[in-house]
Amino acid sequence: MLEEAGIPTLSDLEAKVPGRERLKKGPVAIIECFRSIPCDPCYHSCPVNAIKEFSDINDVPQLDFDRCTGCGMCVGQCPGLAIFVVDYTEGIVKLPYEFLPLPEKGQKVIALNRQGKEICEAEVIRVQQLSIFDKTAVVWLFVPEELLMEVRNFKIGDE
Ligand code: SF4
Ligand code: SF4
Repeated sequence: MLEEAGIPTLSDLEAKVPGRERLKKGPVAIIECFRSIPCDPCYHSCPVNAIKEFSDINDVPQLDFDRCTGCGMCVGQCPGLAIFVVDYTEGIVKLPYEFLPLPEKGQKVIALNRQGKEICEAEVIRVQQLSIFDKTAVVWLFVPEELLMEVRNFKIGDE
């Protein structure tokens, strides 16, 4: 499905998702970037060097799950909108968002999966807008634990 529609399958995601033990320890980035492309802002954005140094700008990013703190700095700086943070301790997913209007804290939105299908209602708990993110916002959503690895976008109301 990745080849035809650009949507990763569970087996595509296997190498991008840490084991259960790491997930239970706290927030961690899930880098859903699969192609060799000339792009490396993720590497440069990480304050703790959790993304392995690129030997070539075409490298596919490799994340050290144990070093990642889940801070989300890479989420807002990835031009491909390919990075998410999941936090199984709090039931939070942090995702990049480039539509207007932005949601507000406390607002209920409709969470979407990778196919764009509506899968649940979610509450916005934070909207991060930093100058280093340029026009990308990082939106934090409360979602049911079993959907943390499914929710990858959202829409507001009946758009
Ligand atoms: S979430 Fe933070 S610590 Fe983890 S890879 Fe991204 S920038 Fe680095
Ligand atoms: S910045 Fe995003 S699109 Fe670019 S290599 Fe990193 S994860 Fe992939």
